[in-house]
Amino acid sequence: MMMTTVASTVANSAQEASFVDDIYAPLACDFPRFPQAVVRRKSSQILVGSVAIGGNAPISVQSMLVNDTRDVKESIYQIQRLADAGCEIIRLAVPDKEAAEALKIIVPKSPIPVVADIHFDYRLALQAADNGVHAIRINPGNLSSKEFVKAVVRKCKERNLPIRIGVNGGSIEKPIKERYPKQMVRQLVESALLNAQILEQEDFTQFAISVKGSDPMEAVAAYREVASRCGYPLHLGVTEAGTLKRGLVKSAFALGLLLSEGIGDTIRISLTADSIEEVFAGHEILKAVGLRKTGADLISCPACGRCEVDLHGLTSQVEALIAKLEVPLKVAVMGCFVNGPGEAEQADIGIAGGIGQYYIFRGEDRIQKVPEAQALEAFKAELDRAVMEYKVEHPNWQTENKLPSLLKP
Ligand code: SF4
Repeated sequence: MMMTTVASTVANSAQEASFVDDIYAPLACDFPRFPQAVVRRKSSQILVGSVAIGGNAPISVQSMLVNDTRDVKESIYQIQRLADAGCEIIRLAVPDKEAAEALKIIVPKSPIPVVADIHFDYRLALQAADNGVHAIRINPGNLSSKEFVKAVVRKCKERNLPIRIGVNGGSIEKPIKERYPKQMVRQLVESALLNAQILEQEDFTQFAISVKGSDPMEAVAAYREVASRCGYPLHLGVTEAGTLKRGLVKSAFALGLLLSEGIGDTIRISLTADSIEEVFAGHEILKAVGLRKTGADLISCPACGRCEVDLHGLTSQVEALIAKLEVPLKVAVMGCFVNGPGEAEQADIGIAGGIGQYYIFRGEDRIQKVPEAQALEAFKAELDRAVMEYKVEHPNWQTENKLPSLLKP
């Protein structure tokens, strides 16, 4: 096989050039401007409380409470905590009548829209709808009858509530499982589209769909298929993704692929960890794909043999410092000044290690040299200045970066 060499792809002969150009000649192609913006799939729009999902609405980040819904005080505390961390829609399990009853108190106190998560007993969906929730999630695989699904649809029509058809790899309808044994992607898609048709037969189109497989590649394939077959908004997720590290990798991989293809209107990262981590991960994945611009971004090097400071310690402290920053500054923490500022040249503000000291820089300018013990304090002062300057230079920064999550339901 003929090998494609780099030299064969350049426009001019390298021999004609000089100095740095001795080894450089422009590539013989139209180089795309990078990063290219994601072109989102066109979808219909639903409203979960005041948060729009689908259409041209920003992609929202959801999470789910892990405590017992019947514990009203704890539920309200946990929702507030997640909302403070940036959660935009919260889902609560409704396993029995007592939990459905608790919604009467919880929902009015929630600063973000509440979705009732219903399995097995459709009557709990009816009760949750009457008790003020903003949307119902049904798992069609365990509602056991088309008539039960229709009863939920009728109630949601009456209450003007949207539904999520939340298909899970672990609970596909038996006939579909038997018909397509060991074909998880097909099972997920068949179940979702079958139930979408049941809702359409009831003249109901205010719904979103999720097809969460626990295998990231299967989830990606299922979402791609559903995305190509209908225009309903899609709620993305990898179900039972696992612990913090493993779950993050699987979710970032699958959702990163889908989102970069324009697929997805709202996301939930499922982790066996504090739900705060789910919210953080959701925002970071959206930022990485270029679909969010609020909040600071952190660039940090892994450190290597050139580093002569406690870089990992300082990075954790800086990460905590910028956790609540709303302006989209790029912040860099680098192990050395040899390569640090160069590697972090896109940063608005950065700090790079020296020998027992740090240099604070803004863009390419070295602003200050500080002993290691005072680095955090000095960096914080410079960061505050950078934030203030950003706000002055972007007087409309709040509206520019405003997301539906900032509205109350
Ligand atoms: S910035 Fe310096 S310490 Fe960090 S990885 Fe690069 S060379 Fe190593």
